[in-house]
Amino acid sequence: MFCVNCGNHIPDDAMFCSRCGGRVAAPDISAAAIVPPPRTTRRKTAAAQKTVRIFDWTIPGIAAAVLFFAPFGIPAVIAAAQANALARQGDAAAAQKEAECAKKWFFLALGAGIPLYVLIVFLAFLCL
Ligand SMILES: [Zn+2]
Repeated sequence: MFCVNCGNHIPDDAMFCSRCGGRVAAPDISAAAIVPPPRTTRRKTAAAQKTVRIFDWTIPGIAAAVLFFAPFGIPAVIAAAQANALARQGDAAAAQKEAECAKKWFFLALGAGIPLYVLIVFLAFLCL
């Protein structure tokens, strides 16, 4: 078992700690105090490994919705949000699929927005 004062490893039948001289508490109390921390750290690491890294299309999606073509930019933002949520849940395949969807909407917004800008500039020149 371990000393509750200094954490020193001591024989199970010991009454006092060999390092700090402190009185040793009941074995199951010291075991409960020592064992949980490594277990929680291990669980945290497992959760961190589960988190899937995908490209976040939220910002490009918002930019596309505001600057280019909102009807295609909005689904890009929604798909990006879903992709992020799936990535947090650790569903790599679904998150990747949703990110691909966001990417498609982003480029559709770009493709629709740029000719629209050209048309607007052209129409603006007609009024001059
Ligand atoms: Zn001790």
